[in-house]
Amino acid sequence: MSSNTIGNVIRCKAAVAWEAGKPLVIEEVEVAPPQALEVRLKILFTSLCHTDVYFWEAKGQKPLFPRIFGHEAGGIVESVGEGVTDLKPGDHVLPVFTGECKECRHCKSEESNMCDLLRINTDRGVMLNDGKSRFSIKGQPIYHFVGTSTFSEYTVVHVGCVAKINPAAPLDKVCVLSCGISTGLGATLNVAKPTKGSTVAVFGLGAVGLAAAEGARIAGASRIIGVDLNSNRFHAAKKFGVTEFVNPKDHDKPVQEVLVEMTSGGVDRSIECTGNINAMISAFECVHDGWGVAVLVGVPNKDDAFKTHPINVLNEKTLKGTFFGNYKPRSDIPSVVEKYMNKELELEKFITHEVPFSEINKAFELMLKGESLRCIIHMDA
Ligand code: NAD
Ligand code: ZN
Repeated sequence: MSSNTIGNVIRCKAAVAWEAGKPLVIEEVEVAPPQALEVRLKILFTSLCHTDVYFWEAKGQKPLFPRIFGHEAGGIVESVGEGVTDLKPGDHVLPVFTGECKECRHCKSEESNMCDLLRINTDRGVMLNDGKSRFSIKGQPIYHFVGTSTFSEYTVVHVGCVAKINPAAPLDKVCVLSCGISTGLGATLNVAKPTKGSTVAVFGLGAVGLAAAEGARIAGASRIIGVDLNSNRFHAAKKFGVTEFVNPKDHDKPVQEVLVEMTSGGVDRSIECTGNINAMISAFECVHDGWGVAVLVGVPNKDDAFKTHPINVLNEKTLKGTFFGNYKPRSDIPSVVEKYMNKELELEKFITHEVPFSEINKAFELMLKGESLRCIIHMDA
C-alpha cells in the first residue's frame, strides 16, 4: 500500500446495489478520507451473511439505495482520522456491524455489549460524524450499510466498529468472525454456558446454529442435539459436533416434547438460531426444570409474540437472548481470533465456497439456494 493515498480520495472498485433484489454492479467509486474517529480500511476478504441478502431484497424495511452492502470482512488499516489513537496504518482488523465506543454506560458495564452510540442501525446509510456518506460515484452519494460496507476495496468505518487482531491470523479465514460465527459461538460460550458433559439442543443448523454447536463442542457438551426442518442440514452438522438430529416434521407431537423424552426431563441448555417464533417457544420449553437455560439468537418477524405458560418460568427454566453473542467487538473479538490461532476453534469447515470479487453475485445465488454456509469473496481477484 503506498502512503500517498493518505488524506486523498481513493478511487477503487465497489459492488454497488442500485436497486432492491437486482444483481450488484462493480463500479469505480470514490472513497473520501476518514474524518474524526474514523478509519479507512483496505478490505482483502469479505463474506456474505443472510443479513446482507435480507436488506438487499428490502422486504419489509425502508429501502435505502444505492448502497454498498457487506459486513463480514478482514482488512488492513490504510489511514486514520483525527483522534484515533489505538489504530495505525498497517494494522490487521475485522470491521464489525455493531460497535464499542468505550464511553457509554453499556461499554462501561461488564454485562452489556449494547453500545449506545454504535449499536446496529440498519436504517442509517451515512457516517455519524457529519451525517454524510464517504462513498460517491461522479458526485452522487452511495449509502453505507451497518457502518461497514465491506463490498468495496476501500471503506470508511467508525473506530469503535474495528477490532484490531493478531497480524499472523489469516484474514481469509478469520473474516467470518465479523458476524455470524461469533454470534453463534458467543451465544453458547458467553450466554448459555453449558458445563462439561451437559446436553445442548441447537435449533436451526445454518452458519449461526453450527457455530453455536461448535461452542457446545468446545465447552465439552456430551450430547449436542440438532433440530432443523431441513434434513439436508444434518449431514454437514456432524462435522460441528452435533451427535443427534431431530426434524420436527418427523413427529406428530411438539418438538419440545420429543426432546424432553429423549433427555429424561429436558436439555440442560438450548440455543435457538432460526428466527422462527415457534422454534423460539420450543427452545424454551424443552429445557430442564430447575436449571435449564434457553438462549434466543434468531431475529423474529415484526409481529411475532412469544407465548408460553408462566409455570415454565416458575419451574425455574431461564430464558435469555443475545446480540452478537454478547461479545464487545474491540475488547473481545481479538481473543476469539486467538481461539482459532491455537486450534481450539475450527473455522475452515464453515467456508464452503470462495469466489473472486468480480463474481460476487454468485455468492448471493449460493446463499439464496441454501447451498453455502460461508462464501469468501477475494477482493484482489
Ligand atoms: P439460516 O437461514 O442459514 O439457518 C436457519 C436454519 O433454521 C435453517 O436451516 C432452517 O431450516 C432452520 N429452521 C427454520 N425454521 C425452523 C423451525 N421452526 N424449527 C427448526 N429449524 C428451523 O440462518 P443463519 O444465518 O444461521 O442465522 C440464523 C438466525 O440468526 C437468523 O434469524 C439471523 O437473523 C440471526 N442472527 C442473529 C444475530 C444476533 O446478534 N442475535 C446475529 C446474526 C444472525
Ligand atoms: Zn458504547
